[in-house]
Amino acid sequence: METYDALLASITPGSGETRTIFDPATGGVVGEAPVHTVADLETAVTAAVAAQPAWAALGHDARSAALFKAADAVERSAEELAQLLSREQGKPLNGPNARFEVGACAAWLRAAAGTPLDPEVIVDDGETYAELHYRPIGVVGAIGPWNWPMMITIWQIAPALWMGNAAVVKPSEYTPLGVLALVKVINEELPEGLLSVVSGGREVGARLAEHPAVGKLMFTGSTTTGKAIIRSSADTVKRLTLELGGNDAGIVLPDADPKTIAEGLFWGAFINTGQTCAALKRLYVHDDIYDAVCEELTTVANNMPMGNGLDENNVLGPLQNKAQYDIVANLVDAAKASGARVLLGGNPDPGQPGYFYPTTLIADIDNNNPLVAEEQFGPALPIIRYSTIDQAIEYANALDVGLGASVWSPNLTAAREVAARIEAGTVWINKHGAVDPRVPFGGAKQSGYGLEFGVEGLKHLGVPQVING
Ligand code: NAD
Repeated sequence: METYDALLASITPGSGETRTIFDPATGGVVGEAPVHTVADLETAVTAAVAAQPAWAALGHDARSAALFKAADAVERSAEELAQLLSREQGKPLNGPNARFEVGACAAWLRAAAGTPLDPEVIVDDGETYAELHYRPIGVVGAIGPWNWPMMITIWQIAPALWMGNAAVVKPSEYTPLGVLALVKVINEELPEGLLSVVSGGREVGARLAEHPAVGKLMFTGSTTTGKAIIRSSADTVKRLTLELGGNDAGIVLPDADPKTIAEGLFWGAFINTGQTCAALKRLYVHDDIYDAVCEELTTVANNMPMGNGLDENNVLGPLQNKAQYDIVANLVDAAKASGARVLLGGNPDPGQPGYFYPTTLIADIDNNNPLVAEEQFGPALPIIRYSTIDQAIEYANALDVGLGASVWSPNLTAAREVAARIEAGTVWINKHGAVDPRVPFGGAKQSGYGLEFGVEGLKHLGVPQVING
């Protein structure tokens, strides 16, 4: 008997239109999600507007205490939430996947709740005394994607709530159940109306982005939708944090040891079966060690089981939806047709149920190939040769996105010098995609603007106010 039944029942609508959510691993039914409308959004925003002033007036300590309790509540329901997430999103329970994501929800709630943001004295020279404060914004909208649906919701709402705001969440239509369940659990510890989920389609998201009572929008999703949101939010001059698409480069310097780095490279690229914004999506390897890196990476990748997420053996799952499966399959087919060399995978089994695409490594591929130049967002990694550092950096910086990147070398000084030349919001050294609630995270170029996490993240959920005098 699956343990999440009661949790699922608690969010299943009794009446009204519903949308059936299917398990991407099996095609079986996971549950029914409400299809909320723009009218439901109005109700949620009205409730948020009403609840926010009292929440703000509680002060930081009381709000922190409530968020710490919310983190405890998430932990009490952790296994049920992880099972629901695994069924709905496809990611395995095991590995850096569903249990890891639910654990991160509790961790980020606590991190936000425990990070102080005190007024800052900017000038105090005897003549001028100026302090910088951050006031609550009011109502914050949170629109999220389907790849890390619970964790990203928490990234958006934890700092928003801590800063004294109310929040209205619009989850992806592909993964509403987990977010509904997560918010239900958190709401055990929060005042009524302060935090709600509107489980609707794009039109609900678009209305949230233009809503005059919403002061800020936290958006995580594709660059295309981010641009639509900038347009919809223009008339209300809404504040925005945009965490958009990426196509992260990793550069392996010639002195790296292929065996030592292979597992880190693998997880950098294939975490969540490649469906991760800041995953390594283009790997640049120096000629001298190209063949050795290809070989070691293939060995590691061969040993990572993919399958139904509820099976504890698996660490990789299916693509979450058919559209994403088709993107990956088409890009790999085009790469193969161009003459690139398949080291592993690239041969999905048409008889297998679910959206499983095998772990795929493609070598000897041209830097302009679409599998390199476009965001594949799946388990297919192109490995490109380079011969000089300048060439590798030019390749890395050639695209109009810049979320993350990585440099791999035992020589930290050399790696940091290369890192400083890469146009990306974060450059990791000897790892990729490792986010930390204390460290700011955000994109460069068309990967978005604004920062999440840490004190900088809190500041983005407040309105700066200078008290001068
Ligand atoms: P998406 O842009 O298709 O959808 C994201 C959300 O936006 C969904 O909830 C959707 O309903 C909503 N939406 C769609 N049109 C809208 C509109 N006009 N106005 C308001 N809301 C609208 O993205 P996706 O396919 O769900 O997610 C995958 C993308 O997200 C990838 O590009 C990935 O790189 C990116 N992503 C970025 C980060 C980051 O932190 N930078 C994290 C995760 C995912």
